Amino acid sequence: MKIIAIGRNYAEHIKELQNERPDEPVVFMKPDTALLKDNAPFYHPDFSSDIHHEVEILLKINKEGKNIDPQFAHKYYDEIGIGIDFTARDLQQKCKTKGLPWEIAKAFNGSAPVSAFVPKGGYNLTDLNFSLTINGETRQQGNTRMMLFPFDYLVAYVSKYFTLKTGDIIFTGTPQGVGPVKIGDRLEAFIEDQKLLEFEVK
Ligand code: MG
Repeated sequence: MKIIAIGRNYAEHIKELQNERPDEPVVFMKPDTALLKDNAPFYHPDFSSDIHHEVEILLKINKEGKNIDPQFAHKYYDEIGIGIDFTARDLQQKCKTKGLPWEIAKAFNGSAPVSAFVPKGGYNLTDLNFSLTINGETRQQGNTRMMLFPFDYLVAYVSKYFTLKTGDIIFTGTPQGVGPVKIGDRLEAFIEDQKLLEFEVK
């Protein structure tokens, strides 16, 4: 499986990092070795002193597709989840300054904790609240209304370049409020009022 992630999909987050608002989705990938499942702890790597949390809604692809028409994109995922796109902001900043790829800052081991997936049917996907708390304090709150590119557009767009396969996961972008984590922190992520993910930074 592969993990496809979308950057700069929420305007307020673009502002906080002083990035440009994109005309098309910003796409990057993480390998399967980035996955952390079953609330496994995240081990803070020693190559960065500024690992940021980015809470994001996830889509799980349920059948193979490429060049998917946006009007049929909803048929390619029937479960959603929540995850953290961990980012070594210090390394990413160096890469960005030099115009280099981001992989070491975004795709390292354990950089993609994901929740269990739940059927999308019970949710209004275009008006979905999600949030992240650290040690019980709310750090990020988002609503999918604020996305620049909605889910179906993202699925169609990504499938032009990468054939989507069953089990692939799409990270759909983070709202404002990103910041560093430290060893000992306890992260909890919610869709609406339902806690779907919780783990510790070790
Ligand atoms: Mg992200």
